[in-house]
Amino acid sequence: MEDIRFCPEHGYYRGVKCEICNFKGEVILDKEKVEKLGRFVSGVLRHFPQKFNLEMDENGWVDFEELSKIVSRKYRWANKWLIKAMIYSDKKGRYELIDNKIRARYGHSVDVKLRDYELADNDLLYYGTSEEEAHRLLEIGIKPVNQRFVHLSTTIEKGIEVAMLRTDDPIILVIDAKKAREKGIKFLKANEFIVLSEEIPPEFIKMLEV
Ligand SMILES: [Zn+2]
Repeated sequence: MEDIRFCPEHGYYRGVKCEICNFKGEVILDKEKVEKLGRFVSGVLRHFPQKFNLEMDENGWVDFEELSKIVSRKYRWANKWLIKAMIYSDKKGRYELIDNKIRARYGHSVDVKLRDYELADNDLLYYGTSEEEAHRLLEIGIKPVNQRFVHLSTTIEKGIEVAMLRTDDPIILVIDAKKAREKGIKFLKANEFIVLSEEIPPEFIKMLEV
């Protein structure tokens, strides 16, 4: 995790220097607080809005002012400007903030439908996992475990990155999304790198040959 700083020309950014103009701005939020704030906000939006009586619609949207109040009760130093700084500088596309509504783009365990997501049009998608797990998934398909949706990667590199969190020896499964789509499986575009799906039957999965 990196500090969040502010560039007067390009806005909030993570790290030491603004990537666009190299300006070294003042620290708005240090990395420990970025980590705490991120974990809490994504936790509320993905897993436990009901714990704070936060009303969430079927597409995962909650009221931003309400969320800000919950966050600043938890962390006295937090406020809505810092939450915005965290969201706007987030490089992983975790959040979406429009008007006065905010939601997580992926990672939900709460029962959301995400009906307003754009459909992904990738022909191939990737799923990084361990070798042991890969053999199992080739037989039974990929199903959401502890999550509302299966999370697929749009590139092999991203698939490897995901798998590396769990194993040193990643295996990449290739999903024939084109064929699956023809058979009625929906793919939702969470962001540039992540596509969500309900379940991928084994007939659309094979192991990446390297
Ligand atoms: Zn700049």
